[in-house]
Amino acid sequence: MERYDVAVIGGGMVGTAIGYGCAERGARVAVLDEGDVALRASRGNFGLVWGQSKGDGMPAYGAWTRLSIALWPALAERASALAGKDVQYRPVGGLTFCLDEAELEARRAFVHRRHNQGHNTVRIVDRRELEQLMLGCPLGPEVVGASYDPTDGHVDPLTLLRGLHAGLRRAGGTHLPGAPVVAIDAAGGAYRIARADGSAVEARRIVVAAGVATTHIAAMVGLDVPVRPVRGQNIVTERLAPILPMPASAIRQTGDGTIQIGVTSEDDGVLETPTTTAALAKMAARAIRVLPPLAAARMVRGWAALRPMTPDGFPAYAESATHPGCFVAVCHSGVTLAAVHAGPMAEAVLSGIMPELAAELHPARFAGNPEITRVQAH
Ligand SMILES: Cc1cc2nc3c(=O)[nH]c(=O)nc-3n(C[C@H](O)[C@H](O)[C@H](O)COP(=O)(O)OP(=O)(O)OC[C@H]3O[C@@H](n4cnc5c(N)ncnc54)[C@H](O)[C@@H]3O)c2cc1C
Repeated sequence: MERYDVAVIGGGMVGTAIGYGCAERGARVAVLDEGDVALRASRGNFGLVWGQSKGDGMPAYGAWTRLSIALWPALAERASALAGKDVQYRPVGGLTFCLDEAELEARRAFVHRRHNQGHNTVRIVDRRELEQLMLGCPLGPEVVGASYDPTDGHVDPLTLLRGLHAGLRRAGGTHLPGAPVVAIDAAGGAYRIARADGSAVEARRIVVAAGVATTHIAAMVGLDVPVRPVRGQNIVTERLAPILPMPASAIRQTGDGTIQIGVTSEDDGVLETPTTTAALAKMAARAIRVLPPLAAARMVRGWAALRPMTPDGFPAYAESATHPGCFVAVCHSGVTLAAVHAGPMAEAVLSGIMPELAAELHPARFAGNPEITRVQAH
């Protein structure tokens, strides 16, 4: 049986970033994954690298996000080289559009709270300043302003994932897709990880990063981590000439020219990814109010994916008290946090010392606290 230093369970954005980071630091790593029929947020998300809305009520999460954004330029350069293709990381700033005075007032209050919690880069811009920031952008007449954070940006998440997988392989790591993990047992100073196809591997350390499946796998190593699925639907249009110079929450122009429009936040607990005409139509209607020329754009595709969501919407990281060397990492902003996962979190898995900010995101905060239900989504 193959023995590894680290076995990561889950080959999405979170598990692959941590596995890549561990392999780059010299560990022998296997990433165990399901197959193409799996539910995978990493292949269906919106691609924002985003700080302005992160950490309201949990300043440690805000700071963890800012650390990731600071580490992003280096990650983007490495991931592009590894993918053999630009990951299109563009830290050009980001907006959340407001379409009437009530929305602007609510956003102003939100920005005020963010400042009080140490996130000072976000501010409100009025219509006039928006027009200066986005010269030539044909904004609809209803846009009265926006929140603006110059540190935000966006990326091509699929190329990023490809780069992380390539980095894992380049550093000697192994990707083992095709069979879910079904059991974990302690075995002579290591853990034996059994897969549904009858195969097994051994590892001294384990990282559970299985997205919406995290809860039941984390329980195998004594960790109690409630996670539920929150569905998000997306639209992508045909390619257009440059029209939107800066990404916004729920509308961005990709490096290829398509316009991505999002996203719903459907918290019905259903582990399925249907799209609905009603939701797609509502998203498209709002996008057209922001950018009227989109009314003439053809929709090419619509899809849905499931965000792994903890009860308060903030990430959860921990090492098991009963199974030393076994960790969990789960979050709904795995694109934004890819840089801290490939860096400080990978170091934590190898050293056993959790970064202070991540330690504040321990899932023990949910124990005996069923009232935590607030959700933050993109
Ligand atoms: C619509 C939408 C928009 C989003 N927009 C953004 C955004 O703009 N910016 C941002 O930062 N984040 C965004 N996110 C969130 C981001 O996509 C997720 O946080 C991230 O992809 C989670 O990665 P993950 O690896 O934890 O989960 P996943 O990508 O779901 O991967 C989990 C993996 O675990 C594997 N697995 C499950 N069970 C087992 C098992 N038993 N054995 C082995 N493997 C197993 C699965 O096969 C899968 O490959 C968005 C998500 C959605 C759905």
